Amino acid sequence: MNVYTFLILSFVVAVYSIETIADLLNIKNLSNNIPLEFEEYYDREKYIKSQKYLKTTTKFSIVSSTFFLAIQIIFIISGGFNYLNTTVVSFGFGPILTGLTFVGIFFFASEILKVPFSIYSVFVIEKKFGFNRTNTKTFFTDLLKSWIVTAIIDSVIFIAILWFFISVRQYAWLYAFLVIVIFELFITFISPVIIMPLFNKYTPLENGELKNSIEKYAKKENFKMKGLLKMDGSKRSTKSNAFFTGIGKFRRIVLFDTLIQKHSVDELTSILAHEMGHFKLGHILKHMIFSFVLTLTMLFVFSFFIDKIWFYDAFLMDTQPIYAGIIFFSFLYEPVSLITSIVLSYFSRKHEYEADAYAAKTYKKPEAMINALKKLSVDNLSNLYPHKFKVFLEYSHPPVLERIKAINKIEL
Ligand SMILES: [Zn+2]
Repeated sequence: MNVYTFLILSFVVAVYSIETIADLLNIKNLSNNIPLEFEEYYDREKYIKSQKYLKTTTKFSIVSSTFFLAIQIIFIISGGFNYLNTTVVSFGFGPILTGLTFVGIFFFASEILKVPFSIYSVFVIEKKFGFNRTNTKTFFTDLLKSWIVTAIIDSVIFIAILWFFISVRQYAWLYAFLVIVIFELFITFISPVIIMPLFNKYTPLENGELKNSIEKYAKKENFKMKGLLKMDGSKRSTKSNAFFTGIGKFRRIVLFDTLIQKHSVDELTSILAHEMGHFKLGHILKHMIFSFVLTLTMLFVFSFFIDKIWFYDAFLMDTQPIYAGIIFFSFLYEPVSLITSIVLSYFSRKHEYEADAYAAKTYKKPEAMINALKKLSVDNLSNLYPHKFKVFLEYSHPPVLERIKAINKIEL
């Protein structure tokens, strides 16, 4: 252990503390008053339930993040990485396969540790609040499928980084970046056809009032799309949502069946007008470029640490294998990713206001948009009074009351 171990662990603890403080402030900020805008949507009992839901999920997330923080610290200071590495090296594989085994065991062990927590979250908390529709069979097949998909995608990215840093060295960060970009675009492209159907059933929206309304709006806005799909979200949860998938020609709109059940045609069209707004205003593209810039920066910074012995010493390693350096770097990067996620959330909230305004101005039914927002937050038991600090740290959407206020101010 050296001064860098101490420094890196302090980073990790600092990030944990900031997030926990935000959570605690958030709970303190709860208010028993139902806001005027929501009086017709909430009865007192359901409103109290929404507050209990927030308290329960927050407490649970603090318990689990404390547990994982403790495990990480114990693993690092007890020389766990060095032990894992010695074991993996003894298998006598080549450098890439050794690296893959090293990270594979590390990530799989963390995934296994997470399982009891997700079981509790889904089958105790979500069930208690009436959200859960998942049975154990769906839960475990989901888990298995997501492990397989993640293992394949992450292995490709990991091998690319490792291979360039071992074999090419000079400008490895740039080559690795190019491969990652191409691969990620490819995944985004094929995901709606290959990955998403592994988890849900997507059926074309049946002919009728809703389909007509959406198509009419899309045509008026000159918005091209490949399909309008309904997803069986009700298989897992009563919570509802709508989203876009795919890029270019494969662009599809997906509506949860649970969303369709609870909203009127005008409300649903407003929700989709908002989603199309994100495209029309270039938000999706901006977000993508921003995340690619982040990846590039990360790889570039990583190339400075890769051959520093102190960096490996900090994790109590006897040798300096690059594959281990990739994992160590993720610890070092935690404070940076906290900052980038603050920036990302800020722009995301700004884009939400813009997409709301776009929907209100083009579909010209702001009341429907507001009703949809109200119903969504009641159905998902969203927190109506999140603390400012929590919003600042991680809210990708502005608090619903502020969105409603902003929509009301829009001049059509
Ligand atoms: Zn949005």
